[in-house]
Amino acid sequence: MNGPVLHVSARTLRANLDVVRERIAPSALMIVLKDDAYGHGLEWVGGLAARTGVSWLGSYDIPAGVALRRIIGTEPRIFAWVTSVVEEIEAAILADIDLGVGTAEYLRLVCEAAARLGRVARVHLKIDTGLHRNGIRSEDWADVVRDTRAAERAQLVRLVGVWSHLAEASDAEDDDAHRCFLGAVEIVRSTGAEPEVVHLTASAAAWWRPELRGTLSRIGAFCFGIRSAEGPELAGLRPVAALSAPVIDVRGDEVVVGIGSFDGLPSSLRGLPVGTPDGVRGLVEIGETSSRVTSWPGAAPGQDIWVFGPGDHGEQSATTLAERIDTVGEEILTRLSPRVPRVVEDRGRDRSDGLDETRGLIVP
Ligand SMILES: *Cc1c(COP(=O)(O)O)cnc(C)c1O
Repeated sequence: MNGPVLHVSARTLRANLDVVRERIAPSALMIVLKDDAYGHGLEWVGGLAARTGVSWLGSYDIPAGVALRRIIGTEPRIFAWVTSVVEEIEAAILADIDLGVGTAEYLRLVCEAAARLGRVARVHLKIDTGLHRNGIRSEDWADVVRDTRAAERAQLVRLVGVWSHLAEASDAEDDDAHRCFLGAVEIVRSTGAEPEVVHLTASAAAWWRPELRGTLSRIGAFCFGIRSAEGPELAGLRPVAALSAPVIDVRGDEVVVGIGSFDGLPSSLRGLPVGTPDGVRGLVEIGETSSRVTSWPGAAPGQDIWVFGPGDHGEQSATTLAERIDTVGEEILTRLSPRVPRVVEDRGRDRSDGLDETRGLIVP
């Protein structure tokens, strides 16, 4: 191969999932898998999480949820929360996917789809706690809850959960959102309903603010060992992904490597310290399909350099890269071209995931 490879470690993911689950217990983990599992590869991550007993997968959209359901079978639960069109709603109900519902209009579409299919749709009502993106406004909440309860009696839906999303901008704002959230849950309970799950927090709040956790925590970034930008290191978590690029030529005191902005490496990362077989060197220039790195003794084609990862070769984490260009670690991963192969490594005895046995190579 003469291009970059994203190495993803099954062992690291499994270890991270254990650490996250222990940290947030008794709150249960929903691993969030949006954007192709933050660029790591939806299918192997979802399959591994399911096999290691993670009881909820957050797919974000319905097509990803349906793809997951095909891989994992009937367990665990899958939650898709993006507002979708009728055909997708029907596909979700048929695939036993839980739906996040953030408007009265969407609730109506879900009820109609359930009626057409003769099935019961599992819904989680979303209260708008102040983000004003998607979610039922406080002033409409009691009405939508009442409509949902009526739809339950008509055997169209089951009110499985109450949820919302925090801004994570300040503790005080999150505290206000939490109070609003608890009030919304109380209104649901006052109708005699007992939701199976209530969920509010994502990575940072679930990790640092136990008092805000519900019975379920939706966690993406931290499961992949991606810490928050400008945030502290996370005890016990390691980056799952490492990006390598092959040496393709040696020219004087510089080495040409097979990675560039076309692969999704921002050219503004010029100057970045990268890992080489002889320790850290500087990324001198980022071109479209290749880049230049300061050379080292014995540099030769066939060797690899490391752009980001857990640091085994001196490379920095995706979040440290992100901080150089004012973004977040997730963005570094999700910007990578889907053409960059994801190679699943360190799979140990876990051979039941249907990937290529010998190489674990996912060809994009
Ligand atoms: C992305 C997302 C999450 C996960 O956020 P992280 O910070 O990656 O843990 C949780 N909930 C919702 C609604 C999201 O969109």
